[in-house]
Amino acid sequence: MLQSNLYPTADLRAADARHYLHPFTDHKALAEEGARVIVKGDGVWLWDSEGNKLLDGMSGLWCTNVGHGRPEIADAVHAQMGELAFYNSFFKTTNAPAVRLAERLAAIAPAHINKVFFTSSGSEANDTVLRMVRHYWALKGQPNRQIVIARHNAYHGSTMAGASLGGMKPMHAQGGLPIPGIVHIRQPYWFGEGHGMAHDAFGLQAAADLERMIRTLGPENVAAFIGEPIQGAGGVIIPPATYWPEIQRICRKYDILLAADEVICGFGRTGRWFGSDYFGIEPDLMTIAKGVTSGYLPLGGVMVSDKVADVLVNLGEEFYHGYTYSGHPTCAAAALANLDIIQREGLVERVANDIGPYLQGRWKTLADHPIVGETRMVGLIGALELVPDPKNISNRFTPTGAVGSIARDYAFQTGLVMRAVRDSLIIAPPLTLTHAEADELVRLARQTLDLTYEELKRRGVF
Ligand code: PMP
Repeated sequence: MLQSNLYPTADLRAADARHYLHPFTDHKALAEEGARVIVKGDGVWLWDSEGNKLLDGMSGLWCTNVGHGRPEIADAVHAQMGELAFYNSFFKTTNAPAVRLAERLAAIAPAHINKVFFTSSGSEANDTVLRMVRHYWALKGQPNRQIVIARHNAYHGSTMAGASLGGMKPMHAQGGLPIPGIVHIRQPYWFGEGHGMAHDAFGLQAAADLERMIRTLGPENVAAFIGEPIQGAGGVIIPPATYWPEIQRICRKYDILLAADEVICGFGRTGRWFGSDYFGIEPDLMTIAKGVTSGYLPLGGVMVSDKVADVLVNLGEEFYHGYTYSGHPTCAAAALANLDIIQREGLVERVANDIGPYLQGRWKTLADHPIVGETRMVGLIGALELVPDPKNISNRFTPTGAVGSIARDYAFQTGLVMRAVRDSLIIAPPLTLTHAEADELVRLARQTLDLTYEELKRRGVF
């Protein structure tokens, strides 16, 4: 047992409340309840300090694609640290793991994408996109092309640009966001906003908002459009099949760069290497993070198409942008070991042809539950919409989110980590999930729904 796990849980909780400011947390509420202390991970399983075993239905935070506790990654990190733990990539220097990773990423990315700019996180990657697309247009002699169009309820990170590109209203309300030059259009959320319409017609209608916005702003002022192929934190919003082709057509028509945020969708989550492959998108830029290292160490990046890279490289002016940890050798070594596992174990194909279809089939069986309005899943990323009456899905629980968080708490109690977004429950388990573990996940999800339903009956909701 590691030394750090020998502290009594009560001591850790007390010190946590005194000293640790957590991300996205109501600290007063957390201090009253006490944080759950996670002490071990192995495969799809987690253990907390009180000995509870949990099925990690969220892959940490959408990132442990190869599962927890892989010794190959630990070994690669150990070896790299012994050789060269850190050096920067500024001042005409480079290092072997970063170069090999860039080469490897170019090989798995769509054919027209062959370069990468490294960051440490998804937020930094999206900040880089904002600066890079403006720089690109300036180099091309169109400095007025400054505006980036994003979507309501998107999530692109927590830095100033990331939170501004994101379309989360509560985030914008704190600190005067979005920053100038970022606007938002509607999201392709059929269950929430498309009732009464056929999926495909709704997809076209949502995409048409992009053209309307471009015309309002003037295409000569628009630099790029950015979107997650499937919105993750917004509630696993899977767009209708018509949406992305129409977005692509509009971007091409007005010569606007298309950036795909692949931070969640990348590295096998959809059963293809990238969500862009799944939807047939040909992005000019792709942001990556999370699954590139399976979260073992922090690493992100912007993958850049030949079209954009040719301008950045050949027009020659220095791009005044970069991070101390851009191309961190140890993080790159972790990524290489992670990609080795994904390729050796055929995890992308496995999601496409085996465990993906299997879990999707099992997940669908939850649609008969009296509080489930919709089940949806692509690859191994899915959601359940909770409603008071599945026969009338326009009816929602009020206030929004209360039932979702009751269900999320029951999920933890039954031994399943799911996340609640509004009144939906979302999952994105490791790509190594076995059939037996998929059965267990769905069994625990049904138990969660039953307990939630009983609780709502007790509270007089039904
Ligand atoms: N983009 C997307 C689509 C994400 O889901 C996230 C994180 N959940 C980010 C960007 C930000 O990544 P990070 O937290 O690594 O900064």
